[in-house]
Amino acid sequence: MMVKNIVIALGFLFVSCKGSTQSKKEMETAKADSKESTFKVVKTDAEWQKELTPEQYYVLRKAATENPFTSEHLKNKEEGVYVCVACNTELFKSETKFKSGTGWPSFYQEIKGNVAYDVDYKIGYKRTEEHCATCGGHLGHVFEDGPEPTGLRHCINGVALKFIPAKK
Ligand code: FE
Repeated sequence: MMVKNIVIALGFLFVSCKGSTQSKKEMETAKADSKESTFKVVKTDAEWQKELTPEQYYVLRKAATENPFTSEHLKNKEEGVYVCVACNTELFKSETKFKSGTGWPSFYQEIKGNVAYDVDYKIGYKRTEEHCATCGGHLGHVFEDGPEPTGLRHCINGVALKFIPAKK
């Protein structure tokens, strides 16, 4: 009877240790992956570096900002859609593009659901960062000094965008 009780007690001990070890490990994995796992397109840093040009890589993956007035998209007035250069997700429609004078391609509205937001304090004050909702690539920031109807200015790095002309 005594031996049987000890065996049962040991059995409980083993199960409970295993249980807690597993859940701790699962929690750590979930924590480490929480940012990446929210995106449909996930690649390693080395893969992105191989696929993107150095300029695209630093902007999209390292949240760098391109030099103003360098984007080929600035003077583009064609009808079409601007897609993520890394994963081809449609991000901005040409009809929402406006001339902001900042030197960066600017839009008053994103294609809803395809752009995701975060907050950064990189230059000392709070800014709303925006990124591709599919691959997580950094696009730019949103400011509340844009034109109607939204009053928003999506200030986007042109190097993160690829323009697809509308079919005529
Ligand atoms: Fe993307």
